[in-house]
Amino acid sequence: MKNTYDIVTLDGDGIGPEVCQAALQVLREACGSSLLRFASHEGGAGHYQRSGFVLPQETFDACRTADATLHGAAGIPGVTYADGTEVGNDLHLQLRFKLDLFANVRPIRLYQGVKSTLSDWKAGQIDYVIVRENTEGLYASRGAGVNLRDELVTDTLVMTRKGVERVAQFSFDLARRRHGAPRDGQRRVTVCDKANILKTYAFFRAVCTEVASQYPDVQIDYAYADAITVHMLKKPDFYDVIVAENMFGDIISDLGAGTVGGLGMAPSAELGLDHGLFQGAHGSAPDIAGQDVASPLATILSAALMLRWLGDRHADERLRSAADGIEKAVEEVLAAGQTVPYDQGGTARCSEVTQAVCRHLG
Ligand code: ATP
Repeated sequence: MKNTYDIVTLDGDGIGPEVCQAALQVLREACGSSLLRFASHEGGAGHYQRSGFVLPQETFDACRTADATLHGAAGIPGVTYADGTEVGNDLHLQLRFKLDLFANVRPIRLYQGVKSTLSDWKAGQIDYVIVRENTEGLYASRGAGVNLRDELVTDTLVMTRKGVERVAQFSFDLARRRHGAPRDGQRRVTVCDKANILKTYAFFRAVCTEVASQYPDVQIDYAYADAITVHMLKKPDFYDVIVAENMFGDIISDLGAGTVGGLGMAPSAELGLDHGLFQGAHGSAPDIAGQDVASPLATILSAALMLRWLGDRHADERLRSAADGIEKAVEEVLAAGQTVPYDQGGTARCSEVTQAVCRHLG
């Protein structure tokens, strides 16, 4: 346990600054003025335009030595490298690889008061976590693909035994700490892959199956990445923890978010053994940036994940109870139905949603 925890904040681009500042306000309300010490640092596509660096060395050093990093979002349309890929994403992609944040934890939970696009499901019936492998898979070869004379282009899907083992173990450990799937209370890890098509995915499945033998109390289940998109709509209550390769995890977590109110409701924690990066699962949403209409809830809920992760790491009950407090305040705001963010059909501005959460904390 420490007296004070150092948190780096990275506003980023688009709605990043609004939602990051909103989360900061909530963290101050939940933790008081001395438990967390914040330091804001530069990075993202806007910073790249000004300086030529998307992740300046000084920012990276700050993230490396801090207790945790809280990020808004990064990316500006049209700000791209010569190969056409977006600059902004490099802020968190570089952090993922350099800080070895191998498990990207994305809870999908339907709150009371939030209308699901799936009309038959109520709060409590959709409550699972997607664990996206975050340092290997198809995205690991970003920047290293081959473009042969503009006629043939390849990117390589990479997997290692160590990489799959650790994310599988992380997923089974997580299932042990949860209460099972809403449908039957069964602790379950679903392996999402295309083992029927590619060697890499068959390897992913085989290694997950080996790891499962150490967890007889957790059921292992398998789903192909295409089929799971249907299952997530038709039987979302069956899922407890889903572990997926990097790109599949990216895609299915947006789908999962779509079933529980949208990207504005989807938090994310990117965890390694020594570092944690926390941001909403959404991007910089340039279409709504600067208008005070973004939902800050994904980033606020990510801040709660940050407090719980820090609390568990440092056995600090103050942080764990602040995390519970933020999640309860969000639950209460949503259940009361008076402060409904734009992305859920309401008219509550980013600032109003933030104030409402702070009021419930108070
Ligand atoms: P990335 O690839 O970087 O994750 P993206 O291209 O998938 O980004 P987002 O920036 O996540 O795109 O935006 C997708 C859509 O979701 C946009 O229409 C955006 O306005 C909406 N959206 C994203 N985040 C929020 C939010 N916090 N509140 C309201 N709407 C949001």
